[in-house]
Amino acid sequence: ADAPEATYTRRDGSTHALPDREADARVRADDRGHVFHSWSAQALIDPLPIASGEGSTFRDYAGNAYLDFSSQLVNLNLGHQHPDLVEAIQRQAGRLATIQPSMANDVRGELARRIAEVAPSDLDKVFFTNGGADANEYAVRMARQVTGRRKVLSMYRSYHGGTSTAISLTGDPRRWPNEPSDGSVAHFLGPYPYRSSFHAETPEQETERALAHLEQVITLEGPQTIAAIILETIVGTNGVLVPPPGYLQGVRELADRYGIVYIADEVMVGFGRVGEWFAVNHFGVTPDLITFAKGVNSGYAPLGGVVISQRIASHFDTVPFPGGLTYSGHPLACAPGVATFEVFERDGILERVRDLGERVVAPRLAEIAEHHPSVGEVRGLGLFWAIELVRDPATREPLVPFNASGADAAPMAKVVAACKEGGVWPFVHFNRLHVAPPLVITEDELRRGLDVIDRALDRADALVA
Ligand code: PLP
Repeated sequence: ADAPEATYTRRDGSTHALPDREADARVRADDRGHVFHSWSAQALIDPLPIASGEGSTFRDYAGNAYLDFSSQLVNLNLGHQHPDLVEAIQRQAGRLATIQPSMANDVRGELARRIAEVAPSDLDKVFFTNGGADANEYAVRMARQVTGRRKVLSMYRSYHGGTSTAISLTGDPRRWPNEPSDGSVAHFLGPYPYRSSFHAETPEQETERALAHLEQVITLEGPQTIAAIILETIVGTNGVLVPPPGYLQGVRELADRYGIVYIADEVMVGFGRVGEWFAVNHFGVTPDLITFAKGVNSGYAPLGGVVISQRIASHFDTVPFPGGLTYSGHPLACAPGVATFEVFERDGILERVRDLGERVVAPRLAEIAEHHPSVGEVRGLGLFWAIELVRDPATREPLVPFNASGADAAPMAKVVAACKEGGVWPFVHFNRLHVAPPLVITEDELRRGLDVIDRALDRADALVA
C-alpha cells in the first residue's frame, strides 16, 4: 500500500520523506556494485532496498509498506525497532561496548542465567556463539569430545546452517554443492505424515515407523561410532514439520539406549515462536544440548549459543574445553537478550503467541485450506505455520518440484507477487508459503495479512490440474 506521508531517518539522524528515489538508486548502486549476497547467483538478483522498519512493518524507499510475514529470516520475534531492545543496546554501548569472553560480564551472565531458568531443568550452562550455524558446530564438537565418537546423524529435510559442519548436517539441497565437507555425517528420514516415507496412515504409525527406521540407521551405522543425533524440534525452512506425538520421546530413548548425545536445534523455534521458550518444553522432552540464535535478541545483534546439560558441562570441569570465539557473549548482543526476557514477561508474549495461534491462525488457515484446491495441507503451532501447495490434491503432486528454481519455481513466484502487491512480505520455500510474523503482530495486522494470502492463493488455484 502506498503511504505518501511516510518518512524515514537518514544516517545523519535527519528525517526525510518517502519516496526517496535518489536514496533508492544510491543504495542499489552500492549493493549491486560491492555486496556479495548469500545463496544467490549474484547477477540474477535485485535486492529491495529497505528504508525503515517499525513493529511488524517495513518500508522500501518508494514508500511501500510490507507486513513482515517472514519476521525477516524468522528471527525478528519482537518486531522492528522495539524500543526496549534499542534502548538496551544504546545503554550498553554507553557503558561497556565490548569485553573479551574469558572475563566475566554482567549482561552475559544474566542472559545465561535467564536462559538456564527457562530451559529443561538439567540444562544450566550456556556457551555463546555468533549465530545458529556455529552453535550447531560447537554442539557437535562437545558431543564428540564427551563421547569420544565422531559420527553425527541428522535428518533429511533439515537446515542447520551455512558453515562447514553445519552445512554437512543439513538435509536439504543447500548441502549438495558444498560436498564433500564433514565426512562423518549420515542422514535419516524424519516423520512427515502428509508425505509419509513409511506408508503410514496415522500419526501413531508414522511415529512408530520413523523410530524403527532411526534405530535401523543407528544399528547399520554402528552405535559405537555415533556421537550425536541432531534434529530441529520442529523442522523449519523445510516445511514446519511438527513431530507426531511420541516421536521426540522416542528419539530421547534411542539416544539413551545407545549412549548418543541428543542435540535439539531450536535456532528457529526457540524464544517464543511456538508459544514456549523452547519448543522441547511443548513436547516435554529434555535433550542433552539445545542450540539457539535468532529470537534470543530478535537478531538486533549477532548471537547464538548452546544450552548444555550438567552431564556434558561437567565433562569439562577439569578437562579444558577446546574451543572459543572472540565475540562469545558480546555485551551489545546480550543486552537486548536480557531485554527480550523482560519484554516477554511484562507483555505476556508466550501467552499471546498461543492465543493468536489457536484463536486466529489455526481456524483461518483451516478455512483457507477448505476453499483453495491448491492447498494440500496447513500445519503449524503458535505463530509458525506452513501452507503446502499442490498441483493435484488427489496425488499431492507439489505445485513446484522439490529444489525448484528458475522457470520451475514460476508458479510460486506468482503467489509471492500477489502477496507483495497486497502489502505482505511472505516466506516461501519450494512449494510452501510459511506464516511466521513477529510475535508482537496485532490481531488486526494478522487478520489483514491472512486475507491477503487468501486472495493470493487464487493464482495457485488457477494452476491446479
Ligand atoms: N538451524 C536452523 C534450524 C535454522 O533455521 C538456521 C537458520 O535459518 C540455522 C540453524 C543457522 O543459523 P544462522 O544463519 O544464524 O547461522
